[in-house]
Amino acid sequence: MADDNISSGSSKTGVKKFIFVVGGVMSSVGKGVAAASIGKILQSKGYKVANIKADMYVNIDAGTIRPAEHGEVFVGEDGIEADQDLGNYERFTNQICTHDNYITTGQVYQEVIRRERNLEYEGEDVEVVPDIPNEIIRRIKLCQEKNDSEITIVEFGGTVGEYQLLLFLEAARMMKVKDPDNVFFVMVSYLPTPPLLGEQKSKPTQYAIRTLNSAGISPDFILCRASEPVAENIKNTISIVCSLPKERIISAPDVYSIYDVPVNFEKEHLGETFLKSMGLEPRTKDMKDWMELSEKIKNLKETVKIGIVGKYFNFKSCRDTYISVIESVQHASWFHNRKPEIIWMDSEKYETDKELLKELDDVDGIIIPGGFGKRGTEGMILAAEYARKNKIPYLGLCLGMQIMSIEFARNVCGLDGANSEELDPKTPHPVIHIMDEQKKHMEKRHFGATMRLGAYPCVLKGGTKAAKAYGTSEISERHRHRYEFNNKYREMMEEKGFVISGVYPEKNLVEIAEIKDHPFMIGVQFHPEFKSRPLKPHPLFREFANACIQKAQ
Ligand code: GLN
Repeated sequence: MADDNISSGSSKTGVKKFIFVVGGVMSSVGKGVAAASIGKILQSKGYKVANIKADMYVNIDAGTIRPAEHGEVFVGEDGIEADQDLGNYERFTNQICTHDNYITTGQVYQEVIRRERNLEYEGEDVEVVPDIPNEIIRRIKLCQEKNDSEITIVEFGGTVGEYQLLLFLEAARMMKVKDPDNVFFVMVSYLPTPPLLGEQKSKPTQYAIRTLNSAGISPDFILCRASEPVAENIKNTISIVCSLPKERIISAPDVYSIYDVPVNFEKEHLGETFLKSMGLEPRTKDMKDWMELSEKIKNLKETVKIGIVGKYFNFKSCRDTYISVIESVQHASWFHNRKPEIIWMDSEKYETDKELLKELDDVDGIIIPGGFGKRGTEGMILAAEYARKNKIPYLGLCLGMQIMSIEFARNVCGLDGANSEELDPKTPHPVIHIMDEQKKHMEKRHFGATMRLGAYPCVLKGGTKAAKAYGTSEISERHRHRYEFNNKYREMMEEKGFVISGVYPEKNLVEIAEIKDHPFMIGVQFHPEFKSRPLKPHPLFREFANACIQKAQ
């Protein structure tokens, strides 16, 4: 057994609190948004916060999990491929998340085993407990130190009672034992209202609390997710079961937009109650802009209709797969005082029936988001052709930029069979080809974390739509791809009106392209959707939404 490594660094103010957020009853009830909202509120009270997501799976990161299975893979500045909750954290607190903000069971075991192989445990036997929890704690503390956060919010994926969560709960419990005044627990629990009964039931939450108790942990706060605010009698019951004052049982009802969550929490004085229980005073109070936005968006009357032409629609909600794209569309539409109406357009159907493309006339603009593999891409190419010819605003994100290039090569430059090497390895005209450094990864079948990942600089060409949108000549955006525009076709395509508006100078990679003589047809090799914020929409989404509104008029 190794020494326990539960030591702390210190932030300048000496404040160093940890809040663990765990789920009760069931998952997918908005624990991530709750954790992000706690971060937002405490930040608005003047504290430096950091958010961590700990996922239970053995995958090292989210990069190797199918989008329809896992939802969006969020990409950080440093190239972390993470759970979509990191996107919530960034959108709510406007703080950059990196590898330090994301922990998985896979990372933890990999590091413990690496150390064991390197004799770093100095001949001791390495045990699941405490060595695994100790590694979890080390990672949490490392994130706190690197961010110099005063309040670090750690969200555990899944729900209590899941076997795989036990070692994470044990880590949190060990931190609490060592440092009882600085470690707190929030349970986000679900209160069902069975239609037959028509009233909220707290029993599942009571069981969840007992399960948490059996891991040696008592919650300090309960956030009650339900369709309606939690009834007073239910608050009383929960308060007795978990021996908590009533003000620590907080309603988290369904909301119009996720950005209402912090506003609702504040209605129940979550910030103050949290700070008080942690022995802290509020320093400032500033969520004014946020509150205004939350109010404004509820009252928007006019709409803008945006089609998302994608292919990961094979499960109940596409929201998870395209969450950052949806959020970016919302931010941009709200900026123009419009309520966005998102229409899901499955590209595969255009392949069998081109007539269906006419539905593109019913929207104000289309987005072709990121994706992998051939399925549905011919349908996307048809949609891009339709958008180009009919002057429908088009925003291509990563794969969407590649699709735009292929369409232009085929239909404007006459390069029959033009394609991406990913989609047709034998294409006679690989206008999109594999990046040099990617070849060796593919030969060795090294798929994990080997794409071109994270932030890269890009220089914009003056006078282009992209340069006008950004209002600057140098930008930085986040990437996640293996293929790129083939410079061999650059000159020929440029001659025909394919404008290269952004380039990564070091390697001369095409990062942004746009179509001349079109109101707005832009494709980007990166993912601008990761950098859009509710109060600061991404310039490309903002200008795309503007073009959509112009078209509608
Ligand atoms: N599949 C494409 C590539 O690897 C696009 C990736 C994406 O859309 N993120 O280049």
